[in-house]
Amino acid sequence: MKTPDADFIIVGSGPAGVSAAFPLIAAGRRVLMLDAGNDAGSEEESRSARVLGNDLESLRADDGSSPKLQTPVARRILERFRRESGITGDGFTPVASLVRGGLSNIWGAQISYLDAEDIAAWPIDIDLLQRSYERVSQRVGISTNADLTEGADSGSVLPLGAAAAHVLHRHKAAKPADGSFRLFPAVNAILSEPRPGRAACDLRGDCLYGCPSGAIYNSRQDLLALQKSPHFRLLDNVRAISLTSNAGWTIGTADGSSFSAPRIILAAGVLGTAALLADLLPIGGEGLRLLNSPTLAIPLLSPARLLRSATATHSLAQLGLSLRYGERASDYVTGAIYEVGSLPAQSFVNRMPLGRKAGRAAFETIAGSLLVATIYYPGDQSRSYIHRDAAAGKGMTVRGGFADGFDIRARDLKRRLRREWQRLGLIPLPGASLAEPGVDAHFAGTLPMGATGPFGTSADGELNLHPGLHVVDGSILPDLSSKYITMTIMANADRIAHRLAETEANPAL
Ligand SMILES: Cc1cc2nc3c(=O)[nH]c(=O)nc-3n(C[C@H](O)[C@H](O)[C@H](O)COP(=O)(O)OP(=O)(O)OC[C@H]3O[C@@H](n4cnc5c(N)ncnc54)[C@H](O)[C@@H]3O)c2cc1C
Ligand code: SF4
Repeated sequence: MKTPDADFIIVGSGPAGVSAAFPLIAAGRRVLMLDAGNDAGSEEESRSARVLGNDLESLRADDGSSPKLQTPVARRILERFRRESGITGDGFTPVASLVRGGLSNIWGAQISYLDAEDIAAWPIDIDLLQRSYERVSQRVGISTNADLTEGADSGSVLPLGAAAAHVLHRHKAAKPADGSFRLFPAVNAILSEPRPGRAACDLRGDCLYGCPSGAIYNSRQDLLALQKSPHFRLLDNVRAISLTSNAGWTIGTADGSSFSAPRIILAAGVLGTAALLADLLPIGGEGLRLLNSPTLAIPLLSPARLLRSATATHSLAQLGLSLRYGERASDYVTGAIYEVGSLPAQSFVNRMPLGRKAGRAAFETIAGSLLVATIYYPGDQSRSYIHRDAAAGKGMTVRGGFADGFDIRARDLKRRLRREWQRLGLIPLPGASLAEPGVDAHFAGTLPMGATGPFGTSADGELNLHPGLHVVDGSILPDLSSKYITMTIMANADRIAHRLAETEANPAL
């Protein structure tokens, strides 16, 4: 190994990468972070540029994916990854990034916490994860939606939209008999109070197109804090393409440079990390199993809210929900309810079995009473694999699919949900859709912690057979519950970095 450039090199500046960096620099370790992206896109853009795109990307045909993935910023991010990463999809949409801040530039910011039952098969203690959850929550800033008319005036709260508040009241008045359905105010990584460099949410509801005030957490914000430390260095426009072990590790980059350190921490996102490890892993004909969350979107109408005006609020998740569908601990779906009023009319019109003109007229009449529920299944309901693409040299293809019997479980779940919608006074509208695998962007399980063999990692995310090479993104989560995943990715990266910060400076040599 040439002279080390740092004690640790972290690849990736998304939520996982920054979460690993803080504990290391606090312990005085020298951290070099490499990212394929740069600072572009952080400067103020006019609202029309954010909504329409500099090249009028918003006017391109609706491709049927979620409205969030069709905004100009999302298209820019996803297209660059598809162009440069060498990863393609077959029945799978590869949602990943090569930009500073990763997918936190476009995420929905909804937060879930795993409990002891969720991580029963992991080689770690829930107490340690909970301590990391607390540290990360403090850092990113979290708020809960609350019905302010009910006097919820303390804590980090943002107002619940009127239609969502109505649904929550109905739920409290008529709880389900067996407790298998839960509905609660959503918890989001949005600021209700300003912080240095970030304003509090202004409730204008522009969130779909990116938050101009920084109220929604984006890991770029953390980079500013990290860059104040003399122990931290960020190099932009550096795409790692190879990893070589030689008494430590050397990273080769797309522009021909190389960087060395005793320990490397991969935080390139599950697909980005798989691409980087392609030459080190014996990926055979069957491919590398990738867990993702099959996702269902259901448009809903609240007749009681027809022709009523909407309340000012953000347009991210208003309510969270969960519903059990089986006996095993992981047999539950998690979801969110959004108010539709602030979403672009076109994405709704395209999904309605009406002509354009009639669809738009219908949208304008009922927008204030429209909601959308998104439902995530656990990862064991997916059957997706990453394959090496012999024809494309170093390229990889992700083949997406669903577990055996998924269609029967999905039908049964829809029936159970219909019962709950009825109890809540909601009418499911035509146009419910199951997304193509990948669109969920909840990925895990390629390099599970605690597994033996060449694809397993230790409780510290160290890849079996490759000492000094750690992974801290979703790749190492051994299973994928249906809960929102990013807070757990960040907490797990924080936990691992605390452990690494305690190790000797050069133990991998
Ligand atoms: C539309 C959308 C909505 C979402 N909503 C939610 C939500 O509500 N709640 C939730 O919990 N999660 C949500 N997610 C998922 C969330 O965004 C991801 O879980 C999270 O961003 C993963 O963080 P990460 O740091 O592991 O990876 P990423 O965010 O993907 O970051 C990867 C980083 O690695 C860099 N990188 C990749 N390859 C290389 C390379 N070869 N060399 C150098 N750098 C590289 C990239 O530039 C990037 O900085 C959503 C995602 C999307 C797309
Ligand atoms: S409404 Fe949305 S875009 Fe506006 S400040 Fe709040 S979170 Fe940001």
